[in-house]
Amino acid sequence: MFEPEIERMKTDQIRKLQEERFIRQVRYAYENVPMYKKRFREKGITPDDIRKLDDAHKIPFTVKNDLRDHYPYGILAVPLRDVVEMHASSGTTGIPTVVTYTEKDMKVWRRLMARTYAAAGVTSEDIVQNAYGYGLFTGGLGFHYGIQELGAMGVPTATGNTKRQLKMMKDMKTTVLAATPSYALYLGEAAKAEGYDPLNDFNLRIGMFGAEPWSEEARKKIQDTFGLRAHDVYGMSELYGPGVAVECEHQNGLHIWADQFLVEVIDPDTGEVLEEGKKGELVFTMLTREAMPLLRYRTKDLAVIKWEECECGRYHPRIMRIKGRADDMLIVGGVNVFPSQIEHVLMNIEELAGEFFQIVLEGDILDRLYVKAEVEPKFFKSDKYDAAKLKKKVEDELQAVLTLRARVELLPPGSLPRTEGKAKHVIDLRQKA
Ligand code: ADP
Ligand code: ZN
Repeated sequence: MFEPEIERMKTDQIRKLQEERFIRQVRYAYENVPMYKKRFREKGITPDDIRKLDDAHKIPFTVKNDLRDHYPYGILAVPLRDVVEMHASSGTTGIPTVVTYTEKDMKVWRRLMARTYAAAGVTSEDIVQNAYGYGLFTGGLGFHYGIQELGAMGVPTATGNTKRQLKMMKDMKTTVLAATPSYALYLGEAAKAEGYDPLNDFNLRIGMFGAEPWSEEARKKIQDTFGLRAHDVYGMSELYGPGVAVECEHQNGLHIWADQFLVEVIDPDTGEVLEEGKKGELVFTMLTREAMPLLRYRTKDLAVIKWEECECGRYHPRIMRIKGRADDMLIVGGVNVFPSQIEHVLMNIEELAGEFFQIVLEGDILDRLYVKAEVEPKFFKSDKYDAAKLKKKVEDELQAVLTLRARVELLPPGSLPRTEGKAKHVIDLRQKA
């Protein structure tokens, strides 16, 4: 463990620490961020009304649009001269969300990242190849800072240049790969195409994969390809970046670092706090953030949380895998469809390279759902390949799960665009009324 005195805390110790920090942080946000003072006044509350963790529900939520409304400097609680770094999320859907850090925030983040690596089994002896994008995205630098804090060796390849990426992986004898799961899958495919034998030519033992949802099937595929243990890492730029939660060596849920994050699970429709074990939207309060203190930040990520001892000896609560985002859900002709359901079906059909797929929605009056899927390379070349038969099989299996008929298009291996960052599986071309 990187910080055993924190990581070994029992539930009641964690709760006590959270409560002290929470009460202090609420007052800090109220006194230093005009938006919070205004919101509290509108609700008729003051920090004096927040005396225990159970009072959290009284505090209004913060949402992504609040950050956009406060573009460019976000919800700043300190003078700009105290800010030492900023990052921004992709902003593909409009104004980017900017996040800021003081020196103290950076220290907390670096230590969280080091703890995250260590929980996955990474040590100062490891050689960590960081294939996340460096720059405004928090992934690249976040994983980079953690390597340094832990004292491991960094190979900062960043995303892209896949041939050189593979060469470095072999020549540097990389032991840990940090990348999006989509890129790890692509690296596995590219390695084989370049003539590597991933199990013998590389020295990988641990993978730090996150920043997007991925399936158990994808995990198995990456693990089998490279002979490594694949760990799920969760985070987002609003909450420092990566390093909010990670799977320990038992790979049974992601430990949330509860000394820094208070997590609640709410009903995404009513905003009501749900009891432990119920699936809902994750809401986080950062307990010590200086530059940008967010209270009850709605993530839109859906998951189940468990507070119980883990085999690793940690009591920090676990996210029992992210089930997708609330706004990921597609409504197709009135039927709810999650892209993860489609992925699950495709990954379990051996004649397909199930991780490479695309969902296309079209329609004006009636919605039409298309699923483009690549055929598994060996099967594609074999004389057993019967396109019409396979197409029907995939359509039938999708129908059994989705309860609606999708039109499947089978593609030769390598047809769909590969990604070096997060995968984009859904293309919605419907005319919104
Ligand atoms: P953006 O994508 O807007 O630039 P981020 O890079 O901060 O912002 O992305 C954060 C989001 O990525 C999370 O809210 C979550 O939906 C998703 N995400 C991050 N890590 C994981 C993970 N391990 N599993 C599933 N989803 C994840
Ligand atoms: Zn554990």
